[in-house]
Amino acid sequence: MSAAGAVKPEPTTKGVVPFLKIPKDGQPYLAGSKCTKCGEVVVGSRNTCGKCGAREGVEAVKLGTTGKLYNFTIVHRNFPGVPVPFISAIVDIDGGGTLKGNLLGVDPKPEAIKFDMPVNIVIKPVPQKDKEGNSYLSYFFEPQSS
Ligand SMILES: [Zn+2]
Repeated sequence: MSAAGAVKPEPTTKGVVPFLKIPKDGQPYLAGSKCTKCGEVVVGSRNTCGKCGAREGVEAVKLGTTGKLYNFTIVHRNFPGVPVPFISAIVDIDGGGTLKGNLLGVDPKPEAIKFDMPVNIVIKPVPQKDKEGNSYLSYFFEPQSS
């Protein structure tokens, strides 16, 4: 059949996840912005700093690949075809920025999930394909093995 490597992964939902970057000659990464005046880091592209109000000196940065679980909810109902339950989580990224996404590799039960648990932020293909059969990438959280 077809070779799995023949299809180039594309970022999931182009335009909706504009901060997931796939350089032609490197690993995919999540992009953020850092204020050179106050050091604030946020997810995505910004021209001004929301913390100190600086209108210049905000530069593009690669976000960290690890973080800590800030909060979560276990989703039991969703659109038809979306497997449930799953864990929707908010993670404070090491180095700055906060990100919402799905936490994988943990039993979706409250007693299995710990606030502040260290996670890796991984970018990998989602199980679904688009209507042309292309795979595409998204980011997920996975617990760090201790
Ligand atoms: Zn600032």
